[in-house]
Amino acid sequence: MNVKIAKEAGFCFGVKRAMKMAWDKLEQNEDGIYALGPLIHNKQAVSKYEEKGLVTKENIEDIPNSKNMIIRSHGVGEKVYIDAQKKDITIVDTTCPFVKKIHKIVKEYSTKGYEIIVIGDSKHPEVIGINGWCSNSAIIIKTIDDLDNIILESSKKYCVVAQTTINSELYLKIIDKIAKMTSDIIFNNTICSATKVRQQAARQLSKEVDCMIVIGGTHSSNTQKLVNICKEFVETFAIETKDDLDTESLKKYETIGVTAGASTPDWIIGDVITFIKNL
Ligand code: SF4
Repeated sequence: MNVKIAKEAGFCFGVKRAMKMAWDKLEQNEDGIYALGPLIHNKQAVSKYEEKGLVTKENIEDIPNSKNMIIRSHGVGEKVYIDAQKKDITIVDTTCPFVKKIHKIVKEYSTKGYEIIVIGDSKHPEVIGINGWCSNSAIIIKTIDDLDNIILESSKKYCVVAQTTINSELYLKIIDKIAKMTSDIIFNNTICSATKVRQQAARQLSKEVDCMIVIGGTHSSNTQKLVNICKEFVETFAIETKDDLDTESLKKYETIGVTAGASTPDWIIGDVITFIKNL
């Protein structure tokens, strides 16, 4: 049985960097290392970090004064930094540099008097964090229809940014419509290519193998998207860990492809590959 792994699978650069920074901090064996929100949406990975001493809290109010606080790769709004300073909390800032860049743009332009428009999902932690750099005043647009309920005033200046993981085609459609609504506007395409590259690699591999295994959380939307892409070409199995593998079904395949969602750590991918190779 041959196993082929997608060229891009699992953690993107930003998540890999964040998880390493968090792990390095835990390795220092200091007391009281807190994460503001789950580090990633992968329960096996979060458990591993919690066993090492990480304590996850949803709100900064629940983190005791003078402790360490990890800010995850999605980033947070400006107020969190101010509150941390007031509480003498040491920040381990793992915000992805691509997200940091958006924070800077939003802060700079809102200070210059621009209205901020974010193309993204208002409930996503990254967008909530971005909005926190313009006093939560951003106009947030998720779909092209959202623009029907918005009036852009010709007397105002606007600055547009995008959630890093949104679909490029949707972004282009939305900015095309916005450009027709007002003239004093700056567009910043802040989409990160990591998601697209991972999907292209999954599509490519699906064409070369007899079946695909997609590793990732059952509630992870980017994992689900990978499953749907692979299913267009071959039989596809969605699993969280090697324990979910249907070994009997796999035995009939000669070449198996493996990919993984953005929150799947390398060690879970490695476990699955070793397991299949030993079948
Ligand atoms: S911006 Fe890109 S690299 Fe950074 S965390 Fe998001 S998907 Fe990953």
